Amino acid sequence: MQTGKKKNSYGSVKALLLGFCVVACFVLIMAYISASKIPDTVGRTLTAAEQQEITSRNSALIDDIWLTANADFPRGQKIQKITIHHMAGNFTLEQVGKDFAAGDRKASSNYAIDTTGSVALYVEEANRPWSSSSKENDDMAVTIEVANDTIGGDWHVSDAAYEKLIVLCADICRRNGIKKLVFTGDATGNLTLHKMFSRKTECPGAYLESKMDDIADAVNQKLSTSDGK
Ligand SMILES: [Zn+2]
Repeated sequence: MQTGKKKNSYGSVKALLLGFCVVACFVLIMAYISASKIPDTVGRTLTAAEQQEITSRNSALIDDIWLTANADFPRGQKIQKITIHHMAGNFTLEQVGKDFAAGDRKASSNYAIDTTGSVALYVEEANRPWSSSSKENDDMAVTIEVANDTIGGDWHVSDAAYEKLIVLCADICRRNGIKKLVFTGDATGNLTLHKMFSRKTECPGAYLESKMDDIADAVNQKLSTSDGK
C-alpha cells in the first residue's frame, strides 16, 4: 500500500512538472513571436545609413530618431487620420525619446515637435503608436506630440512649433494619400485630438484645440498646390 501511494505522489509530481514545462514553453514561444515582430532598429543607436533609410520611408522633416518598442508592429489599418497631442511640458526631443523608451510608461507617438520646431520620430508611420487612449484611433492615425512654451493655462505652443506642425501634417497627408484634413470636433473627422478618446486628459490643451480649424485650412491650402508650399 505504502509503495502504491509513493508511486501515486511521484506520478503527480511528474504530471505537475510536465504541465509547468508545457506552460513555460508556451510563454517563451509567445514572447519570442512578439519580440521578433519588433524591428532590430528599435531601442538602440542607429548608424547614419539606417537613419537615412528610416527617414526615407517616413517624413523628410525628421531631425532626430529615437525608436521605441512601445508600439504595435505593424499598425492594423491604413493611415487615414492625424491626431494632435501636446507634451504638457517643454521637453527636448531626447527627453521625450528617453521617456518613450521606458517600458513602464507604455506610451509613445509617431512624431514630436520641440519648441524650436525640430522634429523627431519615435514610432515609424508603418507601426501603431500608443498615444491616444484608443487602439482604434491609433491604428489609423499618425500621432504628433507638440512641446508647450507655456506650462499650464492654455498650454501655448511656440510659433516655430505651430508652423512645423502644419508642414508636418501636410507632408503626412501627401505621402499617405489623405486628400483633405477635416476637423469635425469629434472622432468622426480625420484630424482628431487625444481628449476625444479619454475624459482623463485635456490634451492637446486649449491653445492647440482652438487652432484646429486653422491648422486644417493651412494644411489643405498646402495640399491644393502642386509643390506643397
Ligand atoms: Zn495626448
